Amino acid sequence: MAYIEVINESKRYQMGETTIVANDKLSFEANQGDLTVILGPSGAGKSTVLNILGGMDSPSDGEVIIDGTDIAKYSDKQLTQFRRTDIGFVFQFYNLIPNLTTRENVELASSIVPDALDADQVLKDVGLGDRLDNFPSQLSGGEQQRVAIARALAKNPKLLLCDEPTGALDYETGKQVLTLLEDASRKDHKTVLIITHNSALAKMADRVIRINDAKVRSIEDNPNPTPVE
Ligand code: ADP
Ligand code: ADP
Repeated sequence: MAYIEVINESKRYQMGETTIVANDKLSFEANQGDLTVILGPSGAGKSTVLNILGGMDSPSDGEVIIDGTDIAKYSDKQLTQFRRTDIGFVFQFYNLIPNLTTRENVELASSIVPDALDADQVLKDVGLGDRLDNFPSQLSGGEQQRVAIARALAKNPKLLLCDEPTGALDYETGKQVLTLLEDASRKDHKTVLIITHNSALAKMADRVIRINDAKVRSIEDNPNPTPVE
């Protein structure tokens, strides 16, 4: 069943006289509980579509149906509520708050969510049970990204949106992070959507959507997703 249904979504930016078309009539679906990868080179329009799916931006045209509701029709206030409570975000550069501990970073994000999970438990689940009182600067990049994943999971969202989650990590550390995202889909039945330029991530996905030059170029289902090795 489609959890995300994007229909003819376009996004244009007006720069003085020039119109930049960042997304040109994108249509694709991502199924509930699946791990979906949107693959494309820099400038393809990936961040634009992720920002729209996450309620951080609105499309110029088209429908963006998430869990049965067209969020393209949401007001700014509805979008803010939606992104605060319904979505877990994972970013390339973690976006942790430097003067809060690991535990506080997770608690802050989940404090506004009614059915949030216990911060300490989720941090244990990502292997950081002994780092609860550390500050981000005391953690490695991979550990910081695991805090960010714990922060996203603690909100107990149905959807995880991930922007180049391994982009700042070395290969081994990146694999640990990908395993957590795979588990979120395979074990927790979260819908996980990852945008990346790294084609190595394609093999772990149930579906790979290739975008380039603002358009969807191909959509491929993978009956046998395997972990990145
Ligand atoms: P990707 O994430 O695949 O690298 P983006 O979605 O960031 O691609 O960008 C797609 C295109 O839209 C690029 O040409 C980029 O310069 C342009 N773009 C993105 N955001 C803005 C913006 N806020 N204003 C103007 N142009 C933008
Ligand atoms: P705030 O609650 O500070 O106004 P927003 O409404 O912009 O924040 O975002 C709400 C949620 O969206 C946050 O709890 C966080 O999980 C996620 N989010 C959005 N943008 C970012 C970001 N740049 N860094 C970290 N989290 C973000």
